[in-house]
Amino acid sequence: MTTLDLRPLGNTGLKLSSVGFGASPLGNVFGPVSDHDAIASVREALRLGINFFDTSPYYGGTLSEKVLGKALKALGVPRNEYIVSTKCGRYAEGFDFSAERVTKSIDESLERLQLDYVDILQCHDIEFGSLDQIVNETIPALQKLKEAGKIRFIGITGLPLGVFTYVLDRVPPGTVDVILSYCHYSINDSTLEDLLPYLKSKGVGVISASPLAMGLLTESGPPEWHPASPELKAACQAAAAHCKEKGRNISKLAMQYSLSNKDISSILVGMNSVKQVEENVAAANELATFGKDEKTVSEIEEILKPVKNQTWLSGIQQI
Ligand code: NAD
Repeated sequence: MTTLDLRPLGNTGLKLSSVGFGASPLGNVFGPVSDHDAIASVREALRLGINFFDTSPYYGGTLSEKVLGKALKALGVPRNEYIVSTKCGRYAEGFDFSAERVTKSIDESLERLQLDYVDILQCHDIEFGSLDQIVNETIPALQKLKEAGKIRFIGITGLPLGVFTYVLDRVPPGTVDVILSYCHYSINDSTLEDLLPYLKSKGVGVISASPLAMGLLTESGPPEWHPASPELKAACQAAAAHCKEKGRNISKLAMQYSLSNKDISSILVGMNSVKQVEENVAAANELATFGKDEKTVSEIEEILKPVKNQTWLSGIQQI
């Protein structure tokens, strides 16, 4: 049996499974998920070699953290066998990147996750805050949490790619260990690629989330709240229908597309069932054995050409 590859995460010394478990669906973000299905999904993920789990207090208004914590506890896996990242600064009530709030936030997250520390704490969607506050107040507060042993590494997340360079250009080297980008390395939008050499030169680890473009690249389509334009949604549905006609699954091809770039440490995909875990790990294993289905991928790229790299506005500043 092929096993998932482990990829180094920047200078952290961590090695993440190439497929990471995005736990936002455990907060019922994409529809209701029972505790039974949540625990079974996490168990199957660990069994198949996934060692990286990402959550946030924002997902399902803290529900995702609670459910992930319950699942990890129930399975009794030794703490050094998995890597957990959570976030701070974004909550159901709104954004607050103040030192006071993020310092309190980690204690709340650890309690919900039933853990003594998290491996990575990330400032969540920083384009909604003041980037200067992130640089001058939030990250220094996170450094204190690192010294206190509550977190091992510091990260930042966001949609517009410019927020990463803004912050990384202004903090001392080695302060921010990781960036998490989403919806910018999938078949319809691959703009993260241009930033990879810069991130590598800084020794910053790269996590890319949402390979299925938050549901756009699935047969069943995106959730109601998806921010894409009607044009982008329609093009992705046309691409999914084309794959189905050819007996191919668009989600598998989308996973394989994202996984192909080894400068990205982990592709975080949201999962809420054993079936999805198995399909996504199988996509990685098939890629390792047989390579990409280049022909179908280029057909999809042709269908998506008119909307290539089309994104949507996010945050209070566009950089
Ligand atoms: P995604 O692109 O991973 O899509 C998730 C959707 O696809 C869910 O509805 C899921 O049930 C479905 N799905 C998963 N596998 C499938 C399969 N094989 N076939 C068909 N459907 C499948 O989007 P996402 O969940 O938003 O992103 C993944 C994770 O990345 C999140 O859970 C979260 O942990 C992280 N993330 C972080 C940020 C941030 O920090 N700002 C933003 C987006 C995502």
